[in-house]
Amino acid sequence: MRRTGKNHWHDEPGFLGKLPGAVYVGAGICLIGTAMLVGWNQGNDDAEITTTAAVTTTPAPQTSQEPLLANLFATNTKAVAKPAANSSTSKAKPVERASAEELIAQISASAPVEAEERAPLLWETLKVKSGDSFSSLMERAGFSTQAWYEVVNLGSSTKALTQLRVGDSLKVVKDEDRVAALDYQLNVENTLQVRRENGTLVVKTHNTPIERRTVSAVGTIESAFYSAAQKAKLPDNIIMELADLFAWDINFALDIRYGDSFSVLYEEKYQNDKKIGTGNILAAEFVNKGKSYRTVRYSDANGKTNYYTPDGRSMRRAFLRSPVHFTRISSRFNPNRLHPIFKTKRPHRGVDYAAPRGTPIMSSGDGVITFAGTKTGYGKTVIIKHGERYSTLYAHMNSLGKGMRRGKRVKQGQTIGTVGSTGWATGPHLHYEFRVDGAHRNPLTVKLPLAEPIKSRFRADFEAHAAPMMAWLDALSQTQVALNQQ
Ligand SMILES: [Zn+2]
Repeated sequence: MRRTGKNHWHDEPGFLGKLPGAVYVGAGICLIGTAMLVGWNQGNDDAEITTTAAVTTTPAPQTSQEPLLANLFATNTKAVAKPAANSSTSKAKPVERASAEELIAQISASAPVEAEERAPLLWETLKVKSGDSFSSLMERAGFSTQAWYEVVNLGSSTKALTQLRVGDSLKVVKDEDRVAALDYQLNVENTLQVRRENGTLVVKTHNTPIERRTVSAVGTIESAFYSAAQKAKLPDNIIMELADLFAWDINFALDIRYGDSFSVLYEEKYQNDKKIGTGNILAAEFVNKGKSYRTVRYSDANGKTNYYTPDGRSMRRAFLRSPVHFTRISSRFNPNRLHPIFKTKRPHRGVDYAAPRGTPIMSSGDGVITFAGTKTGYGKTVIIKHGERYSTLYAHMNSLGKGMRRGKRVKQGQTIGTVGSTGWATGPHLHYEFRVDGAHRNPLTVKLPLAEPIKSRFRADFEAHAAPMMAWLDALSQTQVALNQQ
C-alpha cells in the first residue's frame, strides 16, 4: 500500500467519480486580512495541503453480510414492518403482464380459477406532457368525452386525475372508446385503480406497502475505510451516513488504522419482495485504534429523531466541523500570517475551503441570521448567531440562499448560500470564521459543544430501545472476531 499525502477515505477515485463536483482541484483563497495585490502568491497557502487520491493495492479485508442475524432481526425488531399483504404480484414477470394478471385476479377475486383462462388485457401507457389535462390526454388516446367524464364522476377519489403533472403516466385498458381499466400511481405506496365491473366503473386505492428489513454488515479495515465498506457490500449512501455518524469522534482522513472495524445495522426497503432502496442506519459501532464508538438511532414520542451514544448523549455536536462537503482546505487559520511580500502580520482569522462555484454552504449550527448582505472584502456574506456565546461567518458567497435575511432562523446543515468568489478572492472558495465570546477561534480545532442529550422524560424509553440494539452489536462483533480468526 502506498500512502500518498492526506489520505481522505472519500478521495478514492471510484467513490469520487459518483459525487458531483468531486473532481474539482482548483485553488481559491481569500485576501481578507491582506492587501489586494496583483501577483499574490497563492501557492504559499496551499503548499502543504495538496490532496492526492489514495492508491491502494492491498487485498480487501475480510468482511461479511450476515444473513442468519438478519433473519433474527426480521422476526424480532419493531422496526421491521409486516410483510407485504399482497404477494400475488411478486411473480418475476414483465411489469405490464404482471399488472394485467393482477387486474384479472382482482376483478375476479371470487373466481380465481376462471381468471387464468381470460385473455390478458392490453395496457397502454399515457404520458402527461406540458399543457395536458386529464381530458386532453384521454382524448388524444382515442377515448370519447363520455369516457373521461365517467371516470371523473366517480367521486373525490379520482380528484388526483385532475391535478396531473408533466411526466406522470397513466396506464389504461380500452374497451372501444371507453375505459375498461385505469391505473395511476399516486405515490410510492398507493395506486389509484379504476375497473369496470359488471358494466360499471368502480374505483379504489391499491396499497403496496413498503417493507423495511433490517440487515447487518461487518468489516475490518486493511487499507481504507471505503474499500472495506464496499467489500462488506454496504451501499454508498449507507457508507457516507456511517462516516457522518462517527465524524465527530473520528477523523476519517487521519485517524483510520489497519485493523479498525465496523458493524452496522441498517434497513433495506422492499416492495412486493423487490428491493427498492435503503432506509436508515439503526445502530452502528466503529472500533478505531482499539476504542469502540457506538451509536443508536432513536425517535422520541415528539417525533424527534437523532443518533445517540448508548448512554444517551448526542452523537453530534452543536456545530458541523466544516460547512461544506467534499472540499479541501486552501488556507488555514493563522493569527500570525506574514504577508508574503511585506513580511508584516496579516492574520487569517478563518479557514478557506476551495470548492466549485455553486457548492452549497450549510449553516454549521442552529441559530439566527444577524447579517446577510455584502461586506467589503468579504463579498456576499452571512453571519449567524448561535445562542449567547457563538457566532459563525460565511464569506465570498456566489449567492445567498432563498429567504436568507437578518432575523431568519436556520438549522444545522441547512443551505444558506453557495460558494463563489465575491469580494477579495482569488477563486471560488468559502471563507469561514468561528467566534466564541466575540473572539476568533480556529474552526478546525475549536472544541465544539455537544448537541442536546436525550430528554429526561424519554430516558426510560430510550434505554428500552437501545438495549436490544447494543445486544445485536455485541453479537455482530463476536461474528466479526470469529470471521477474522478463520
Ligand atoms: Zn479566508
